[in-house]
Amino acid sequence: MDPDAVREAFAFDHQPAPTGVSFGPGALGELPRIIDRLGLRRVLVLSTPGRGRLADTVAELLGDRCVGVCAQARMHVPSTVVEQVRAQARDRTADGCVAIGGGSTTGLAKALALDPGLPYVAVPTSYAGSEMTPIWGMTEDGRKTTGRDPVVLPRAVVYDAELTLSLPAGTSVTSGMNAIAHAAEALYAPDTSPFVALLAEEGVRRLAGALSAIAKEPSDLVARNDALYGAWLCGTCLGATTMSLHHKLCHVLGGALDLPHAETHTVVLPYVLVFNSEAAARQLAPLGNALSTSNPPAALQDLARRLGAPRSLRELGMAAADLDKVARLVVAQPYANPRPFGLDDARALLHRAHLGLDV
Ligand code: NAD
Repeated sequence: MDPDAVREAFAFDHQPAPTGVSFGPGALGELPRIIDRLGLRRVLVLSTPGRGRLADTVAELLGDRCVGVCAQARMHVPSTVVEQVRAQARDRTADGCVAIGGGSTTGLAKALALDPGLPYVAVPTSYAGSEMTPIWGMTEDGRKTTGRDPVVLPRAVVYDAELTLSLPAGTSVTSGMNAIAHAAEALYAPDTSPFVALLAEEGVRRLAGALSAIAKEPSDLVARNDALYGAWLCGTCLGATTMSLHHKLCHVLGGALDLPHAETHTVVLPYVLVFNSEAAARQLAPLGNALSTSNPPAALQDLARRLGAPRSLRELGMAAADLDKVARLVVAQPYANPRPFGLDDARALLHRAHLGLDV
């Protein structure tokens, strides 16, 4: 092979995230030492209202390193909430944050990392993986703006599976499928690499195995630990690559119709994988290895259904009348994908996902 062809086939760029990770059941106990190591003295603890009691516990653990709790985080990071929390951070002269919760809480911490530039420690309690990505989002007047900036990465992440025991089995399954979707699309991303493929395969293997155990017994700490480990790997894949058709579809469905995030990913993923399976057969091989199958789309659809996840976009509240509008929005801007897709492709795929047909 001539050197140019070898470069073309094997060269890649990888920018490792500068984030320290403390992993293990009970790791939350390390938080005061991590805050001290980062030189933070006045942190604000962020959470959603539902995780408010947990946020109070973290505030107690931090003692006088903590200057307040803001349990106001909401899905899609509304700019009104961001402004309120920025004002509280200013009033209390906070020098950093701890974000304890799922993707919505991490999203709020990212907004404060952008402006006024507060560093933060993420303590994820779901499998969304936002803590491993430089992607931020904010919603103003119903319009979501997103961007990529390494400044929104946390300084440290504490992965403590004990904090995920309370995540209901159904939410665990869809949150885990959301993470699997990140790994699946990372495999055929234009900026993927063999390193990302390793993480994706192991992440999907761990998560898929753990989700069945969690659905059976939500208090299984070994399975929870495995799922969180898988979520970390899948989140790293998301942070390292550019997503394709699946994420475009889910982004439009969430933005235009307000469909629930993780559930939408769970329903849509198998249909996108069928669409891309021939064009990206080689890249998707690790997904088959992880799931021990020659048919990953069917295996994922079967897994989600066996574990009680929603089966169709119709079930999530999408009206048939919206199919055409969504298809048009999906093709309105060019998007990376291993197989080109046009309006008819988008319509056909959405039609199948709307009805929840077997892949
Ligand atoms: P979420 O943070 O909104 O959490 C969903 C609900 O579950 C909330 O009410 C929360 O309080 C609750 N919850 C979280 N952990 C819990 C636990 N351990 N026990 C009981 N309840 C718990 O949702 P999510 O699924 O974690 O994240 C989805 C959001 O994150 C979406 O808005 C998505 O856009 C965003 N996201 C962003 C990125 C990124 O890179 N920027 C990546 C993935 C997801």
